Amino acid sequence: MDVPLICYDCGNTATLAVGARCDCGEPYWVATDPKGFAWPESGERSLWRYRDLLPDADPTGLAAGAGGTPLVRTPRLDDDIGARVHAKVEGSNPTGTFKDRGSAVGVAAAADAGYETVGTVSHGNMARSMAAHAASAGLDCLVLVPADAPAERLSLLARHDPTILRVEGDYGRLYDESLRVGRERGIAFVNSDTPLRVAGQKTTALEIAESFAPSVPDAVVLPVSSGGHGSAVWKAFQELREAGLATELPRLYFVQTAACGPIAEAWERGDRTATPVDGGETVAYSIANADPPSGNRVLAAARATGGGVIAVDDDAILDARRALSTDAGLFVESASATALAGAHRLAERGAFEGDDDVVLIATGTGFTERDVDAPAVDAATVELGALDDAVSERMD
Ligand SMILES: *Cc1c(COP(=O)(O)O)cnc(C)c1O
Ligand SMILES: [Zn+2]
Repeated sequence: MDVPLICYDCGNTATLAVGARCDCGEPYWVATDPKGFAWPESGERSLWRYRDLLPDADPTGLAAGAGGTPLVRTPRLDDDIGARVHAKVEGSNPTGTFKDRGSAVGVAAAADAGYETVGTVSHGNMARSMAAHAASAGLDCLVLVPADAPAERLSLLARHDPTILRVEGDYGRLYDESLRVGRERGIAFVNSDTPLRVAGQKTTALEIAESFAPSVPDAVVLPVSSGGHGSAVWKAFQELREAGLATELPRLYFVQTAACGPIAEAWERGDRTATPVDGGETVAYSIANADPPSGNRVLAAARATGGGVIAVDDDAILDARRALSTDAGLFVESASATALAGAHRLAERGAFEGDDDVVLIATGTGFTERDVDAPAVDAATVELGALDDAVSERMD
């Protein structure tokens, strides 16, 4: 594919046929020319609304249904955060996470370029998303998972019938090896921070920005793992600035789990590069990447926008997950709840002002989650004849 690429760090250019990473070691993103871009007048609600900022691709099937998710006010969270809080509900995507945005663009572009097989390295949401989009487009899908991937997660993935291969060895290296194998065998790998995925995932931020147009929110808070989505959000706001649709960029705050937070640790040290960590167990397993391929790019995004990177522990994540359910009506994955947990910590540090608009990206639904911390159910049983008394006893 000769999609034009540019390195965010050194400015080198290339095309996708050559590879996803620059010689300097940093990831490429798709080069775009946003000058002249205006908010579309079309009524199209999916991410293809922004096709002028996306690689050429003709979406069929499920791809046409990705994006267009609700941005809701969550007024009952305002007091705790000390700002006007909004949530971007990415659980409304076809497979329940923002990953569908990257998969939609990646699979559509691969199909357009004549690929018959797509692939990914993941055993979670990205794998399910790729397998679903490939199924819809009629492409074969190869999913490479770590040898110890839990069976109950693979069974959700298997519903879409991809070819699953368990791979022993270093998971970080598998990422690079998959790209090489893909190039040599004509399989389009759409991994966590590869250029087509990041291009599609820009649309989370484009939708947020269009909701606030002509202004922009003051801050956006989102969970990060590989750093692909965080990079995409940064890129989207840069493009809007180039197009003259955003004078200022929102402060971008990235949240990791304390059990596995290499980007947050680098930020705390004041480093420009993230180094791999020995990740531990965490309820936020979807964001436990010990060696994030776009870690440095996320650090650059936090510096450039006056934001930051922080880590939160499992207790704070579960508290936030509960608050999202009881005070905002949102049923999210633990990994997604880190956004609110992070916003709490940022608020304690004085990051927000009372009239700030703060957007939390609720990255994925909780419906697919292994049941951690299920609350005991408090429900009495009453005779039908005693219904009136029972209701008045409890509800008056
Ligand atoms: C993948 C994922 C993330 C992290 O996204 P990256 O692009 O890997 O940083 C966050 N939340 C959920 C629910 C995810 O599935
Ligand atoms: Zn470079």
